[in-house]
Amino acid sequence: MKDIGFIGLGIMGKPMAKNLLRAGYRLVVYNRTASKMEEVVAAGAQPAQSNREVAEKSEVIITMLPNSPEVKEVVLGPNGVLEGARPGSIIIDMSSIAPLVTMEIAKIAQAKGVRMLDAPVSGGEPAAIQGTLSIMVGGPEEDFQACYDILRAMGSSVVRVGPIGFGNLAKLANQIIVAINIAAMAEAFTLACKAGLEPAVLYEAIKGGLAGSKVLDAKAPLVMNRKFDPGFRINLHIKDLTNVLETSHQLGVPMPLTSSVLEMMHAMKVDGHGDEDHGALAKFYEKLAQTEIK
Ligand code: NDP
Repeated sequence: MKDIGFIGLGIMGKPMAKNLLRAGYRLVVYNRTASKMEEVVAAGAQPAQSNREVAEKSEVIITMLPNSPEVKEVVLGPNGVLEGARPGSIIIDMSSIAPLVTMEIAKIAQAKGVRMLDAPVSGGEPAAIQGTLSIMVGGPEEDFQACYDILRAMGSSVVRVGPIGFGNLAKLANQIIVAINIAAMAEAFTLACKAGLEPAVLYEAIKGGLAGSKVLDAKAPLVMNRKFDPGFRINLHIKDLTNVLETSHQLGVPMPLTSSVLEMMHAMKVDGHGDEDHGALAKFYEKLAQTEIK
């Protein structure tokens, strides 16, 4: 399959689309704000006028949007993907959304003969640029195999985790671990710094031990250098943890740590930091402890 449509050229979508072009795929793109298509069009993509037109011209349609309501609107709404998609084509939703919504959309698509995979990603903007995302895929094995090479053009790890919706279930698990790790790092560094220990020295001392992690390596330097540009916005992490709690309440699973971190993130949003990187969660602790990790 060579004709791919791509909808949603934001922080993640733009570099992912460029990697598909680099891999030799023909790409039709659409973004609500037209100016964001320019760079990808300059790199060889064909611009479309609507979500529907993207679907009409593609065998595989990729969406990379913020959350469940936007994916519903783009796929099921007027002038949307399902109006244009041919029977047999495959939608790959790579957004991080609620698993139950994924299942709902897939069912409606199936009734029109259109197949669907959910394939949310982890790794952030740097991995999107380098084509080294971790991609968690839900959907039938046959469709996964048909789309594997396309996904590998964007990610270095592409794992099918189960039926449709399970990609997003894996992503929720990923987001729980990342959020709690950031909070743990912020809590620990605030204590050490208030006592007078230099954060750079602390980082050097602990990064090779059991407390070392990819989260620590990615976020501790940013906090110490006071770099809070996104990256991954606190508002997006609030969205993911809200999807976690909706899912966990339906399944009857208590989530005491996730709930606490979500409340901290809400406080940061109210305090005007929602569009900063989730590493800015450190400021929650700094403010309460009246210290700074630097
Ligand atoms: P951005 O906000 O940068 O981009 C979102 C894209 O969705 C934009 O192209 C935007 O269009 C489009 N969009 C938003 N609302 C609508 C709508 N109602 N109709 C049509 N298009 C719409 O987000 P990211 O690229 O950062 O994130 C995308 C997804 O990837 C999210 O689910 C996020 O959780 C996930 N993700 C993000 C990571 C990150 O580090 N940023 C890491 C891993 C996953 P417009 O330009 O018009 O606003």
